[in-house]
Amino acid sequence: MINKLCIVGVGLIGGSLAKALRAGGHVTEIVGYGRNLANLQTAADLGVIDYAEVSLGAAVRGADMVVLALPVGAMKDIFAELAQLSFDGVITDVGSTKVNVIAAARAALGNSFSRFVPGHPLAGTEQSGVQASQADLFRGRRVILTPEKETDSTALARVRAMWAATGAGVSEMSAEGHDRVLAASSHLPHLLAYALMDMIVRRDDHRAVFAAAAGGFRDVTRVAASDPVMWRDICLANRTELLAALTTYRDDLGALIEAIERGDGKWLEETFTRARRARETLNSK
Ligand code: NAP
Repeated sequence: MINKLCIVGVGLIGGSLAKALRAGGHVTEIVGYGRNLANLQTAADLGVIDYAEVSLGAAVRGADMVVLALPVGAMKDIFAELAQLSFDGVITDVGSTKVNVIAAARAALGNSFSRFVPGHPLAGTEQSGVQASQADLFRGRRVILTPEKETDSTALARVRAMWAATGAGVSEMSAEGHDRVLAASSHLPHLLAYALMDMIVRRDDHRAVFAAAAGGFRDVTRVAASDPVMWRDICLANRTELLAALTTYRDDLGALIEAIERGDGKWLEETFTRARRARETLNSK
């Protein structure tokens, strides 16, 4: 049970977490903090938070849990501000990259770093903002925690319990492993969707292309509607792993072009069959 929960960045993920914990009766009081009072007021009007605070100090005062749910590039400044406050509760985050967030927390928090539990819920949508938040967003989904050697076991257990209360399954892995795997499973597909949409919209006949867009095009490009700032930050934060994945993908596209150029039906069919089998395995999971 959380007594006072402070959500920094009450958008899709922060708002959904607040709603899930409230719906299950796992929290007594929820305060929101962010840079945009109008959005925080919307969150309060929607009943997602109980009230908003305009200073981080007031927001975290008496809180036993602080959740950072803003773009990963904006977390560094919040860690620095938190370090100036006499806050002794648990700190966690929901950021899509972990190595950079942990480095920022370690650099800013000093001894309080042990009370920081890095986390990432593998759930979301291409929508953003508190209006898109859902109480059941995490139900049946997976949350990855990436504790460091300094991470306090009680803080870790509290964050585990918080996510379990939302209906999510919680697992742990290293931050490096997380960023490597997520580069392939999430970050690369988002960039491909952005690149594809951008390529099409720059064609003179893009209106005709969109008019002819059926299920396949919509499936493949759905996540290109995601928030550009969030994805800018993820690209910059997970640069090394993302460049490795993108380079392999570019090489594979090169091989595909060459196979089409030489009319190599055998290569195409074998490649598509291998991919189709892999996709069927994914469906059965
Ligand atoms: P979102 O809906 O856009 O919400 C982000 C929130 O952070 C908004 O309330 C925004 O408020 C606030 N914010 C943005 N920049 C800020 C800044 N510089 N200082 C203070 N507040 C700021 O985004 P989201 O999808 O919830 O993503 C939040 C985090 O969750 C990100 O780190 C993302 O990587 C991670 N995540 C996202 C997904 C997903 O599918 N969306 C899934 C898992 C994890 P204002 O703009 O109103 O100020």
